[in-house]
Amino acid sequence: MASRLKKDDEVLVIAGRDKGKRGKVQRVISGKEQVLVEGVNMVKRHLRAGAEGARQAGIIDKEMPIQTSKLMPICPSCSKPTRIGYQVLKDGTKSRMCKKCEGMFS
Ligand SMILES: [Zn+2]
Repeated sequence: MASRLKKDDEVLVIAGRDKGKRGKVQRVISGKEQVLVEGVNMVKRHLRAGAEGARQAGIIDKEMPIQTSKLMPICPSCSKPTRIGYQVLKDGTKSRMCKKCEGMFS
């Protein structure tokens, strides 16, 4: 099944330690119900110079994937956290739709 979230969707965190934060989906982890969200589920990582492409040794903040069940998409039309419905368009393609305002997701 295709993930209900897509890259560049804005989401609200509804569970876990980042509850209440908003961010943009940066990457969907295929095969898992997980996505990377900008600024959410950050961990500090200690890097040595040269490790993982780091130019300098130090501590960096890095996003870790978060379960999509802990996220709620924010509708681009009504700017509210919402559930996603699906609508089949005339040409047969399935489009994501906001269940609150029936606005289309991109
Ligand atoms: Zn809406």
